[in-house]
Amino acid sequence: MKSKIARICRFTGLVAILLLLTAVVWGKSTTPDIRPGEGVTEQRKLSDYFPPLKGTNLDTDVFILDSGKPGVTALLLGGTHGNELAGTVSGLVMVENSVVKAGKLIVIPYSNRSALSMQDTRNHIKHRHLVQTRSGERYLTYGDRRTDPEDQQTVDPDVYINPKGYELNNGAESRNLNRTYPGNPEGTPTEQLSYAIIALIKQEQVDLSLDMHEADTPEKKIQTDGDYRPGGNKRLAYTLVSHPRGLEIAAYALLALEEDIHISMKLEESNTKYRGLSHLEIGNATDSLSFLSESPNPGQDRWRSDGDVITDSKYPLTHRVGLHLRLFKQLAEAYADESGKAFVIEGLPEYENLLAGDIGRFLN
Ligand SMILES: [Zn+2]
Repeated sequence: MKSKIARICRFTGLVAILLLLTAVVWGKSTTPDIRPGEGVTEQRKLSDYFPPLKGTNLDTDVFILDSGKPGVTALLLGGTHGNELAGTVSGLVMVENSVVKAGKLIVIPYSNRSALSMQDTRNHIKHRHLVQTRSGERYLTYGDRRTDPEDQQTVDPDVYINPKGYELNNGAESRNLNRTYPGNPEGTPTEQLSYAIIALIKQEQVDLSLDMHEADTPEKKIQTDGDYRPGGNKRLAYTLVSHPRGLEIAAYALLALEEDIHISMKLEESNTKYRGLSHLEIGNATDSLSFLSESPNPGQDRWRSDGDVITDSKYPLTHRVGLHLRLFKQLAEAYADESGKAFVIEGLPEYENLLAGDIGRFLN
């Protein structure tokens, strides 16, 4: 009897050590809840394009919506920054509703999956948000801006020098996926992640890509002394950043967007001196035209710690998701017009329909 107990103790001790080792080796993993719709013709992993990612928390789901008919190949990236909820949820709404009738669409809802495993370190927004969907209750994950340090497997440097030799004085930016492009196959896990996305773009011969982001809202805080304090980054919201090669398409798309949803966005050309960002480096390293969109997220306003990231009255998630998805549609259609290739997408919610209720009505 005694030896049996001892055996059980040894066994459970061994299991505990193994679990601990697994946690240390793999870090905290978060598997996002994605429920693909009928338009998804194939589900892949990013490691299919760059095998060293396999088994790590940087590997992520890739959804292919292929019409089987020739046309534009477009890539939609959400979750480059895990705390920019409209980017990830736009990816989900696309994957769970759309059917592509001409051309091919590739969607990565959670580009930096590792950033999801941490709660937002800036404003400490809640990690999981309950929503009512078509199939009942479901959680949306709100993560952090950067790769989990455990997954990066190295201490942040004092100064980060990115693959293009650009120096960033905040070493933590070495874990920011949108500073590590075009990546490095032998670099840090985050540099390998951006390298893998570039590898996908080359292999799939992507014609255009949109990387969806969020920034502070344009709202100001009224201080007790009557002064206004603007958000730190308020110039970014409602901006479309375009690679120099994409400016004409971007301008057409923004005009069409105004007609579609009656919202104006600013057009900004990539700053060619500031290296490592997706909109510049994807366009430089591949044949793809590359764009980056910014919506206003109350959760990123530094002056409020309790920003409502889903049902804010002025900047609800439905508004922000509508902004990204309708913009993406206009970009792809403008590209189709200009190139003579086809792109037809169905099932994408209209902006008015999104605004008319909760986001959960467009999630499985
Ligand atoms: Zn961002």
